[in-house]
Amino acid sequence: MSQDWDLIIIGAGTAGMPAAIFAAGRSDKVLVLDAAPEIGGTLHLSSGQMSAAGTRLQKEKGFEDTPAMHIDDIMRISKNTADREIAGLAVDNAAETLDWLEAINFKPLPGHPVKGQAHEPYSINRYVWGEDLGKSILAVLKPPFEAVVASGKVTLKLNTRVTKLIQSESGTITGVAAKTEDSDEVAYTAGSVIIAAGGYVANGDMYKELSGHPAYGDHSYPHCIGDGLNLGLSAGGAAWGHENYLTSFGVIMQTYDVPSKVRCRQIHWPERRMPWEIYVNVHGQRFMREDEPSVDVREHTIQDQPNLRHWIVFDSTTLKDAPPLFADFSAADIQAAAEKDEPMFYVADSIAALSEKAGLPTDALENTVNTFNDGQASGQDALGRQNMPRPITDGPFYAIRSQAMSVSSTVGLKVNTGLQVIRNDGTPIPGLYAAGESLGQGAMMGSSFCGGMLVTPALTFGRMLGQSLLPLDAAAQ
Ligand SMILES: Cc1cc2nc3c(=O)[nH]c(=O)nc-3n(C[C@H](O)[C@H](O)[C@H](O)COP(=O)(O)OP(=O)(O)OC[C@H]3O[C@@H](n4cnc5c(N)ncnc54)[C@H](O)[C@@H]3O)c2cc1C
Repeated sequence: MSQDWDLIIIGAGTAGMPAAIFAAGRSDKVLVLDAAPEIGGTLHLSSGQMSAAGTRLQKEKGFEDTPAMHIDDIMRISKNTADREIAGLAVDNAAETLDWLEAINFKPLPGHPVKGQAHEPYSINRYVWGEDLGKSILAVLKPPFEAVVASGKVTLKLNTRVTKLIQSESGTITGVAAKTEDSDEVAYTAGSVIIAAGGYVANGDMYKELSGHPAYGDHSYPHCIGDGLNLGLSAGGAAWGHENYLTSFGVIMQTYDVPSKVRCRQIHWPERRMPWEIYVNVHGQRFMREDEPSVDVREHTIQDQPNLRHWIVFDSTTLKDAPPLFADFSAADIQAAAEKDEPMFYVADSIAALSEKAGLPTDALENTVNTFNDGQASGQDALGRQNMPRPITDGPFYAIRSQAMSVSSTVGLKVNTGLQVIRNDGTPIPGLYAAGESLGQGAMMGSSFCGGMLVTPALTFGRMLGQSLLPLDAAAQ
């Protein structure tokens, strides 16, 4: 069968752009289709934090690191729940990606690499990002991507959503069908197809079905609605990662809607700010020591609480004297939001009245506060908390409802080390490859957040497929 294209890339985002840039060195018949009106995908929103071992930057700064140390860290942090083979493939090739980004003008922040920030720290400084976060990466990918499009080697069609994979009777993928808002489906044939269509967080129904929880946060790229995973499944591909669902901790939503935008994020890391407050669940009970040192433990503990939710409870002296609870939301902001009855913020003159406003059981909350106060007086906290700043005694009293949420997709397409999408029996689907969040976060980091292990693998696997796909595909047919 004659093919219109050597390669079709579904998605011009984090994985798709490097795939196209490198494929253009080897073919002048590369087609990139993106459902969005612009290139870049989730890089428009992402924090863009990357991790790589053995980079030029690390060497310059005297950090001796290896991919073996990186994968050992990932397996330690994830308690062996990441996929050693595929995460290992990503880290083995990550330094080349970071070095390439620097060569095309990516500037890590001064003082980088660091060991960690929001997530469980690595054992060595291998974590970097740029001043404009994900947009810093997009800014350096854009010129080479636009150059290969201008050269004619890559054809880019925006506002074009891939709706189907075309599969031969023998199972080989031979192309895609795609449509724009005003056109019917058009078929494009190709020797190989890369799914680089991101995750499914913007698809609330799919998110809930795959994780068992609503997608609380409205912080994902709107075109990432699970097409990548669904296209791969429709061709007989297998999914993995369901068991690895995890959310981050301590997010204050703007509204009670699902999804909602984020209003502010709690500084819940004791190494940055020791908590003065207590955390209670919907039953009005404490469920963890608030100064739990491990962010991974905090994130896993909230998974057991109803609706992945807790209330931060404190008194007016804590509001006045404690270090700021949020980075960009002051004590005065908290007081004003609570006094104006804004969503998530509650204030009342007694614990009983506070419980009614916040929707918590009164007896339970009063008991919890009394027990906590006893612990503060005796120095023996019931949950083993070490930080004992003061009891909760001085009205008015405050509660803030805090939500755990996730910005990435746990479940994805299963691939082999050639990044071929594979079936449940492990056999590859000829002609079909995948990279990026379409592979699911569970494979890269298991059931824990490992810094940089979505953006870096997406860039790396995109680059590797662009560099190797055509000969590799021929060998696989
Ligand atoms: C707020 C936020 C912060 C994050 N911070 C970090 C971080 O610091 N570090 C980290 O490692 N990860 C982070 N992540 C995750 C990481 O950014 C993403 O996993 C990664 O960028 C996804 O890359 P991708 O190439 O798979 O998808 P994307 O970059 O989203 O690209 C997918 C592209 O496919 C297109 N598309 C979708 N469906 C179709 C279709 N049917 N047809 C054609 N085109 C289609 C989309 O329009 C999009 O352009 C963050 C995510 C978010 C939302």
